[in-house]
Amino acid sequence: MLRIIVVAQLLVGLVLHLGSLREMTRNISHIKTGPLRFKWNVLRMIVLALAIAYIAYTAQLLAEGEGKAGINEDLLVGTAAVLVSLFVYGVADLSFQTVRDFRDISQLKKLAHQDQLTGAFNRRHFDFALEEAVRIAKLNKEPLSLIAMDIDHFKSINDEYGHLSGDAVLRTVCDAIVRQSRHTDIVARYGGDEFMIIVSGDAAIAVTLAERVRAMVENLEVDLPTRAKLRVTVSVGFAAMVSGDSPDTWFTRADAALFQAKRRGRNRVEDANSLESRSSIGRGGPVITELSIAEASASR
Ligand code: GH3
Ligand code: MG
Repeated sequence: MLRIIVVAQLLVGLVLHLGSLREMTRNISHIKTGPLRFKWNVLRMIVLALAIAYIAYTAQLLAEGEGKAGINEDLLVGTAAVLVSLFVYGVADLSFQTVRDFRDISQLKKLAHQDQLTGAFNRRHFDFALEEAVRIAKLNKEPLSLIAMDIDHFKSINDEYGHLSGDAVLRTVCDAIVRQSRHTDIVARYGGDEFMIIVSGDAAIAVTLAERVRAMVENLEVDLPTRAKLRVTVSVGFAAMVSGDSPDTWFTRADAALFQAKRRGRNRVEDANSLESRSSIGRGGPVITELSIAEASASR
């Protein structure tokens, strides 16, 4: 009777071991090569060795037949087998549950900050990044610029070629912006067909980047889902951050420069700071900057 109990214990241990091996194998395949994968593979080998030991021990017990002395030690081994197996199974299950939870959380975090269509940062992330960028730049006295960019006559693309073609244009333009930007720049889709780039650099760096993107988009041929090809252009405004700028005033200046680029014929780059100097020179005449800012704000 005792022998049956010991054999049953060893079999339970074996099943638990095989269960944890299956759990490990399933999850290790998701882990990229590296030290973590190596460690889990080592643990898997140890668990496999233990499983083989249980089989050998069970076989030996059965072969010895009845009447063997030392059944108490066998009972001890059987109990240990169940406890160790439970521990191994529990650790494997808990570890992978934790890994999966972390993966889900980081996936959700990414989704919360990412624009689904283009993969760029979304407006929520941009608003947060803008505040942070201003705070850090003021603290470190580092130059910072903001580029606002909008696709020209985008509505008519939707109207003529359909919404899916519009989506393809948005993705292609965004790819061009990301390709031209440096990894320190923050590219976001602000909404609709408007993109923003927070550029770590002064006006000279911003104008170079803005012009590079404008030219690249102009020369792109967008592949539409209908297999047709389409050329598009973007209008761009940029503003180097000046002392006294808040995130809101800085944004409004860049947006006003974008608005000015639209007014001056589109497919061009305008500098908010030079807009302002022009308007202050022309005091008494039409105040372009203030009008632009007001109009740009109204159009948002
Ligand atoms: P402008 O040259 O003055 O910028 O003219 P526009 O036609 O581009 O006008 P506007 O920038 O206001 O157009 C934005 C359009 O973008 C309006 C809306 O229908 C479209 N839109 C917004 N979000 C999406 C989207 O996710 N996919 C597609 N296909 N279209 C979108
Ligand atoms: Mg547009």
